[in-house]
Amino acid sequence: MDEQQLLALDQQHIWHPYAAVNSTMPLFAVERAEGVYIQLKNGKKLIDGMSSWWSAIHGYNHPRLNQAAIHQINEMSHIMFGGFTHQPAVELAQQLVNILPSGLDKIFFADSGSVAVEVAMKMAVQYQQAKGETQRHKFATIRSGYHGDTWHAMSVCDPVTGMHSLFAKGLPMQYFLPQPRVKFGEPWQQSAVQPLKDLFEQHSHEIAGLILEPIVQGAGGMYFYSPDYLVQAKALCKEYGILLIFDEIATGFGRTGKLFACEHANIIPDIMCIGKALTGGYLTLSATITNQVVAETICSGEAKYFMHGPTFMANPLACAIAAESIKLLLESPWQQNIQRIEQQLQQELAQAKALDCVAEVRVLGAIGVIEMKSPVNMASLQPRFVENGVWVRPFGKLVYLMPPYIISSAQLSQLIQGTINSLKQEYLQEETGNA
Ligand SMILES: *Cc1c(COP(=O)(O)O)cnc(C)c1O
Repeated sequence: MDEQQLLALDQQHIWHPYAAVNSTMPLFAVERAEGVYIQLKNGKKLIDGMSSWWSAIHGYNHPRLNQAAIHQINEMSHIMFGGFTHQPAVELAQQLVNILPSGLDKIFFADSGSVAVEVAMKMAVQYQQAKGETQRHKFATIRSGYHGDTWHAMSVCDPVTGMHSLFAKGLPMQYFLPQPRVKFGEPWQQSAVQPLKDLFEQHSHEIAGLILEPIVQGAGGMYFYSPDYLVQAKALCKEYGILLIFDEIATGFGRTGKLFACEHANIIPDIMCIGKALTGGYLTLSATITNQVVAETICSGEAKYFMHGPTFMANPLACAIAAESIKLLLESPWQQNIQRIEQQLQQELAQAKALDCVAEVRVLGAIGVIEMKSPVNMASLQPRFVENGVWVRPFGKLVYLMPPYIISSAQLSQLIQGTINSLKQEYLQEETGNA
């Protein structure tokens, strides 16, 4: 199929994320991808700045991950998890227990990040029920969060960017707190946790869990906040009998400079969700992990079991690749890689501050964010990135980079320069156009 045919048929039949049917937004056909390069069908080669939404941390087409996939396919790519177990799941569980914060050792494998969040929320409710706290079925969270697109995950996403008004009649109402005011690296102010204290004082009897993306809020705003907020939240959750749920689906596996973002605060949640980079970007797989006390409490309740069981639970192919991906990560100098990327982003992305259209530039770990003064025009900006040989996918006012950890310094320079040049072209054009 040639490129034109492919794009035409796509436009006729296929939805894309957050898109209109028959969308006329720019769309590019990918031929293959290798390392940090994405090869388009039209011959253009792009440096990847997105890691396919936080997931492809080792780059694309990695020989070791390919080998793990081929090996497992030749054994079995799937088998039901009811009544069966298998080496890929057990090996992966063992590896996760070794790297997760201590005590988090009861693992529920699910098929996507959103489902892992649903599972975490159900765990919290079943835990409270088992303790006789049957009124506790609501959740607290902070504004500008993102936890996925399924129903209850959506209920704890930011009410504005999550379009709660559209679903208001059917969506459960949760408690929203202001975004933590103290940014990452700023001195802590106790007043920043007052809204959380006030909420728990008044409504703890209805609240099953507090769900947060620790340190880095991803798709809801790319905002980095103080680890001390998590320290305070942990103490308050304990005081009020509320489970603390960390959604590390975006932050897990090194992205922020620690293996898990909660390590910045030395805080261990009651429940943690992981996904995205778990399989190195190969297949969809997620996990919800809790500790022995929560797990045993859930199973001491009326239901006796935890009530969830996806068809493709612990898919052996995904588990085998995930196990190899974690091995690969731990064998690599990942901390040095992230530090190198962080320093280079800090130095080179700073040029963007000189542009009139830019409000702020911020960097944490292998995440670089350019916050614009107003939302970008994707229809014109996206083709400029491609023209400049980089793959960057902004949303709203946020133009951000989170490259695979294997990116070389030269490739990262090209990525940053291509991004900034695209912005210059877009906004200089606009100024001339207005003149
Ligand atoms: C992407 C994401 C999710 C949802 O994961 P899916 O695999 O897209 O369902 C949930 N939480 C966070 C923090 C995410 O970044």
